[in-house]
Amino acid sequence: MEVPEPAEGARLLTDSFGRVVRDLRISVTDRCNFRCVYCMPAEGLKWLPRAEILTFEEIERIARLFVERLGVESIRLTGGEPTVRADLGVLVRLLAAIRRGDGKPVEVALTTNGAKLERMAQPLRDAGLTRINISLDSLKPARFAEITRRDSLGEVLRGITAAVRAGLEPVKVNVVVVRGWNDDEIVDFAEFGRRTGVQPRFIEFMPLDADGTWSMDKVVGADEIVAAIHAVYPLEEVAHGPEPASRWRYADGAGEIGVIPSVTKPFCGDCDRVRLTAEGSFMTCLFARDDYDFRTALRGGASDDELAELAAMAVGLKWAGHRIGKVDFVRPRRSMSQIGG
Ligand code: SAM
Ligand code: SF4
Repeated sequence: MEVPEPAEGARLLTDSFGRVVRDLRISVTDRCNFRCVYCMPAEGLKWLPRAEILTFEEIERIARLFVERLGVESIRLTGGEPTVRADLGVLVRLLAAIRRGDGKPVEVALTTNGAKLERMAQPLRDAGLTRINISLDSLKPARFAEITRRDSLGEVLRGITAAVRAGLEPVKVNVVVVRGWNDDEIVDFAEFGRRTGVQPRFIEFMPLDADGTWSMDKVVGADEIVAAIHAVYPLEEVAHGPEPASRWRYADGAGEIGVIPSVTKPFCGDCDRVRLTAEGSFMTCLFARDDYDFRTALRGGASDDELAELAAMAVGLKWAGHRIGKVDFVRPRRSMSQIGG
């Protein structure tokens, strides 16, 4: 892997396998207005107390450190559902003002369920949001309600339209494909993308559901997803960089899809991500068993140098990759909404 030189005064976060951290995912809340079956339980997940959640000032300080001094180029806000955090636009504005060590603006992206986006898309864009992923797993109202446990398909579709109108293109639509739930809609989503100009990104189901119902036979692999679409709308693979999605474009030029093969073809060897949970725990992998308590360090008066040391130490210990499907796989103690996808 080519390792670019750090900008002057900056230091790269490089792990023991030579992977360089470029992307910081920040969960701004563990709360959510949906209860997707592959993520949260129907009820009973205890929210973090308000005082344990990082403030905007604390998030900005960590983001600034990672971007200005530690080589991070993009930030993605996630959750829980990030749009339920009050004044999200204020945070986006704070983060969008951060410049990388080389003077370029940091990219600020958002992953959202889209339910509140109809009114928020334009203000978020105006605040400096550059990219958006909107999650949508069924185009059928009744099934959408079964999967999310909320009857909000109309809101999400209007949210997608608002994101396109606000110029957040290409709008990416995250589709978690689960066998027996929505694998019969793969081609429908391709058609939805061809019709509306959004890019579907099909995600393999990972063992991060709070209900613990994941099993390998529910995973619809990337090859199967691509083959289903290719049979109807021929696809050509697009060369891509370190991002986990393998990308495919339609031979007739009608757009593109992405497929995230986290389970069947893990991309851990190219992983450039780290994560900060809503309560300020630093994680070097979605499946990591160890996390590092940035909140206590921050609130205990740690200097930027000390925080940078903590980050470098954690990244130095990053493992080669997850072990999904192997006998020694251990589920992380948090489920997806508590980590931040
Ligand atoms: N609430 C926002 C949303 O749904 O887009 C952001 C947080 S959500 C945890 C981030 C992404 O993780 C979503 O695209 C969601 O579909 C995906 N996700 C959640 N649970 C998953 C699982 N068990 N396997 C694969 N993807 C999952
Ligand atoms: Fe909420 Fe997103 Fe998890 Fe669905 S996937 S329950 S919208 S955090």
